[in-house]
Amino acid sequence: RREREDALRDEPAITTDGHRVAVVANIGGVADAREAMTKGAEGVGLLRSEFLFMERTTAPTEAEQAAVYADCARALTPGQPLVIRTLDVGGDKPLTYLPIPAEENPFLGIRGVRVGLEQPAVLRTQIRAILAAADAGAHLQVMFPMIATMADWRRAKAIFDEERDASGVGTPVSVGIMMEVPSVAVMARQFAAEDGCDFFSVGTNDLTSYTLAMDRGHPKLAAQVDPCNPAVLTLIGQAAEALHERGKWLGICGGVASDRQAVPILVGLGVDELSCSIPAIPSVKAMVRRYSLDTCRELAARAVACSTPEEVRALVPDDEA
Ligand code: PEP
Ligand code: MG
Repeated sequence: RREREDALRDEPAITTDGHRVAVVANIGGVADAREAMTKGAEGVGLLRSEFLFMERTTAPTEAEQAAVYADCARALTPGQPLVIRTLDVGGDKPLTYLPIPAEENPFLGIRGVRVGLEQPAVLRTQIRAILAAADAGAHLQVMFPMIATMADWRRAKAIFDEERDASGVGTPVSVGIMMEVPSVAVMARQFAAEDGCDFFSVGTNDLTSYTLAMDRGHPKLAAQVDPCNPAVLTLIGQAAEALHERGKWLGICGGVASDRQAVPILVGLGVDELSCSIPAIPSVKAMVRRYSLDTCRELAARAVACSTPEEVRALVPDDEA
């Protein structure tokens, strides 16, 4: 199977009835960007920018960041998307130069975009660095993590607009929201109506955790934090429908996008882009090619009617062997 999938890795992922799904990569640096290209990625759906900020005593400068973003962009085929997620740290991952007071409940505290809104200098520097890489070849897209309220989004977007206007950069840079807090999925219709909000990408790792109120790293609970829980799939399906009404696209950048069994269900729910771990790309593409969109939709309808993740997984044969 691997050999067959590898032979077709550079071909697009199109269902048997002609529906194309973008298959892109999750990356954590420039080397990953290069490797993703060798595995058939059609761009990058999530650059976790944390790697630039960890294990150091001062924040990376604007020039330092811009050079890395431009290197990532140049590693891609010209015109491919490069979604850069702004710094996603929080009280559980302290950075010495970015003091976040200790919290009782860091996963419900100052994390993700909340850090940038509390300490806008860091966010502003990062946005300027991204804008500086806008002409490096890829289609740059900025994505804010852990947006929970409309106020979060509007504040983050206002900061982006101010920096873009001040930069004089004319190349379009898209702006989107990471859908990983249930409130954003539930209010997808209102978020989709926001001017200047171009796209959404579901972080199913956190979305599942927050939907079930279970820590994804908890030794006793992690096994139950399954993104195939029908509650999570229902949120994704409803969000996709609301976004498509407004002509906005929905990606998945959480781990479930690399899960072969989940692929036809996600496609049937209306997901436009799957952002996978690099090694999973050829087999995710192969999974898309195996089904018709009609069958995917039927599977999705059955999945959201299921009562447990086990029932959902039983819908799609697992022929990994
Ligand atoms: C997610 O939450 O699904 C996600 C992609 O972000 P991270 O795993 O980096 O929190
Ligand atoms: Mg997350």
